[in-house]
Amino acid sequence: MIRKIAIFAAMTIVAVVGVLIASYNGTIVTVPVTEKVVALTYDDGPNPPHTQALLATLERHSVKATFFLKGQNVEAFPEAVLAIARAGHEIGNHSYSHRPMFSLSKTAMLEELVRTNRLIENLVDYKPALFRPPYGIQGPGLKMALDELDMTSILMSTSGLDWEVTEPKLIASAVVESIEPGSIILLHDGHGDVSDPNAQDSRAASVEATGIIIETLRAQGYRFATVGELIALSR
Ligand SMILES: [Zn+2]
Repeated sequence: MIRKIAIFAAMTIVAVVGVLIASYNGTIVTVPVTEKVVALTYDDGPNPPHTQALLATLERHSVKATFFLKGQNVEAFPEAVLAIARAGHEIGNHSYSHRPMFSLSKTAMLEELVRTNRLIENLVDYKPALFRPPYGIQGPGLKMALDELDMTSILMSTSGLDWEVTEPKLIASAVVESIEPGSIILLHDGHGDVSDPNAQDSRAASVEATGIIIETLRAQGYRFATVGELIALSR
């Protein structure tokens, strides 16, 4: 009896691990490139005035980044979305309401994805090809939902931990210490955990950290690309 339970438990673990691995299949965490090139990505925005401050910093350094926008904030701040697009940055989808995808049915995931794609598309005239799951959590069904929409899930290999670290130099050093060619860097210009777009946290520290990251990595010979450009380099 005990042996049967043990076999059943082992099979259950294998099945659960299998589902989890399958749900991350096709996800991009880092990009295999030999050149010293990395991608800066910003989640949860737009979040005025921090998104605009970030755009000014990126422009000053002539860097293009990728912004994974939250649908609720796109609705609230269309002008900021247009400013991101006009500056030549890449726009991706970060769901409408920032719920963990693991908790949603495939139909609910599709609703989150399509609603946000439409909001973005109405403003910038293209459908996002990239999706970043809230909290980096995927789930069974997400891959199928993304495949239906011809989208790719983008995670990250390096993070500034800027949802808990508030000192710009520490955010920058968390990124710089773990960088390598092809890294996808996670930072935030918005705040995913609040449903009221006007109640988002300040991201001034992330904006300041961005300037330090760019200067430090450039001194090490790195250049910056959008996630789409980085993926194209690996082909
Ligand atoms: Zn987020």
